[in-house]
Amino acid sequence: MNVRDQVVRFLKTHPSINAVNFRFKSYRIWPDAYRKDVADAVSRGDIKLGSAVNDDAAASYRQDQDRLEISPSANFASLHHLGLILHECTHAVLDMRAIGRHSAFEDEAVAYLAQAFFLTRTLGDARTTPDIPVPSSANTDDGAGIYREAKRVAARAMRTGTYAIDGNEGANLISLIAGHPHYRDQKSYPSNRFNRSFLYNLARNI
Ligand SMILES: [Zn+2]
Repeated sequence: MNVRDQVVRFLKTHPSINAVNFRFKSYRIWPDAYRKDVADAVSRGDIKLGSAVNDDAAASYRQDQDRLEISPSANFASLHHLGLILHECTHAVLDMRAIGRHSAFEDEAVAYLAQAFFLTRTLGDARTTPDIPVPSSANTDDGAGIYREAKRVAARAMRTGTYAIDGNEGANLISLIAGHPHYRDQKSYPSNRFNRSFLYNLARNI
């Protein structure tokens, strides 16, 4: 099965995507945003698959090219990699909403939360996830501190049946993202659905 079919099958069929259903600030995420919106955009080629990931990432998404990059070493049998792919597909969801330029830190927070809801449902560990806010000193290069805070917030929301995660609850997550060297200088992300400049159309097909 080619990578495109594997992505579509993952988005359409993985049962844990049912748990990815929340609001954070003004952003709403629900299962059909993946199962239908992103899966269909990948199927029909509005979102193009590539393999040019940054650094050692398993996946990345380029809003300007509408391109989902999946590393040749990505493993669809790895839960960790599926979480990363879902994270990137969340960036695609927000790009498809055409909300214009918006905070990159908020966009990342939504993506980390989606990843955390997905993994918490799969692992079934909402009750045993410690509810201890992650300190900024845990902000390691690999992003583990950010993920741990997203996991805390998602697990708590699942335990308490909370749909809307408010700004206070997510404030520490945002500050961990804003303080991380990988994100610090990313002030905003575009969101323009499938509008591309001439240059980005060329780049997309490399
Ligand atoms: Zn991201």
